[in-house]
Amino acid sequence: MSSPAEPEPLIVPRSDHNVSRSNISQNALKVLYRLRDAGHAAYLVGGGVRDLLLGHEPKDFDVATDATPEEVRQVFRNCRLIGRRFRLAHVFFGPEIIEVATFRASAIPAGQDGTDADAVRTENGMILRDNVYGSIAEDALRRDFTVNALYYNIADFSLVDYAGGLADLREGRLRLIGDDVEARYREDPVRMLRAVRFACKLGFMIDPACEAPLSALAALLAEVPAARLFEEVLKLFHAGYGLHAFEKLRRYGLFGQLFPATDACLERQEQEFPSVFVSRGLDNTDRRVLDGKSVVPPFLFAVLLWEPVRLRYQELLDGGTAWADAMALASHEVASEQQRQVAIPKRFGMPMREIWSLQPRLERRQGRRPIALMGHPRFRAAYDFLLLRAEAGEVDPELAEWWTKFQDANAADRAKMTGAGKKRRPRRRRKPKSAGGGDSGGDGGAEGAAVMHGRAAGDADD
Ligand code: ATP
Ligand code: MG
Repeated sequence: MSSPAEPEPLIVPRSDHNVSRSNISQNALKVLYRLRDAGHAAYLVGGGVRDLLLGHEPKDFDVATDATPEEVRQVFRNCRLIGRRFRLAHVFFGPEIIEVATFRASAIPAGQDGTDADAVRTENGMILRDNVYGSIAEDALRRDFTVNALYYNIADFSLVDYAGGLADLREGRLRLIGDDVEARYREDPVRMLRAVRFACKLGFMIDPACEAPLSALAALLAEVPAARLFEEVLKLFHAGYGLHAFEKLRRYGLFGQLFPATDACLERQEQEFPSVFVSRGLDNTDRRVLDGKSVVPPFLFAVLLWEPVRLRYQELLDGGTAWADAMALASHEVASEQQRQVAIPKRFGMPMREIWSLQPRLERRQGRRPIALMGHPRFRAAYDFLLLRAEAGEVDPELAEWWTKFQDANAADRAKMTGAGKKRRPRRRRKPKSAGGGDSGGDGGAEGAAVMHGRAAGDADD
């Protein structure tokens, strides 16, 4: 399959590198051996090889082969073919999935931009579908960064390097493959986010030639499907280096493409009182990840979008809107506007909005409300969110301390704290209700009004 113009790879024999089978997942090895025994070429590639060479534990193992997806399926019963844009085989071993990709030919066949063939499809230089199979050399050159294009050959345990990845790995440099850097970003603008992600994850510098066009090309992210960007955002902010990634994304104007409303707030604030809320939230998430604690998308997105929600909420309050209504509206506006860039799945969007809607409710400490609030399924997340707001100097720390104390207190102390235990004065006898009357004070009126705002109503009356 290889063409005569293909470059010669650097081949490093087993004796000269530190990638050991004892550090490769048993299941990935099984896949490699089975493909080899069925007569196919089979290599470990991508992050698995890169991370093993750096002495890190790989997140997952990807396999590349000359077998077509259909041929892969014939070798494994526990296998499913997935993907339209990029057809792959997934081999399942309980919870572990080994991704097996067939060698791809170079991405854009010369002069074929805009073709609508079944296998390859591009538009304005962006790859929409990429299913033409090729040789390992071609496969290497269509990967993103040189350090991601290193192959570990199961046939002789050697390393194969077509792109200079080993040298870049030694020097801690992230470099796109090929000379036309801009074209590589245009083919797939997500590579700009991947550049930031790997720079943070590996502690590498982005090669100056690859760094230079980032700000100018950031707007290309608008072309990427919002659902794909959701996945990328999670990878950026849920891996333990979110704060660092945030700072880099902002520096290159990429953050503004993902979260325009938040970015606009931060830009404005930088000239007045810079808010540290987002940074605190991301730092907190990083610490949780590093401590092995769970992190969830609704909390992350609640943090990332809070600045615009908070400002809009305040604006509505100043304009005379009742608080529950104001929060419901602000949440609804910000969340739906955000969907254009980064699509937050409904199952995460709902709890995210609940975290926000509970914030003003946490300020109401009298009577039975606090106990009722503690029973809310989102109470714990909302309380953690309040702690962050207090840390960022956005609410009085006394409020957060009150809730901390309240949760630990026994029933008698709780009653004292809320005034719920006070002996009530005997009620005056009510006058008979007039039609349409009743208790319209407190939250009721606001909730009623919130219902009128459709989707956001759930937030106000939960
Ligand atoms: P990690 O899994 O640690 O996040 P990774 O490098 O393995 O990092 P994956 O997203 O798992 O990243 O992709 C596996 C490999 O596929 C990459 O190493 C790279 O060679 C190739 N690849 C992934 N995404 C792209 C892309 N957008 N453009 C070109 N090649 C890509
Ligand atoms: Mg990977």
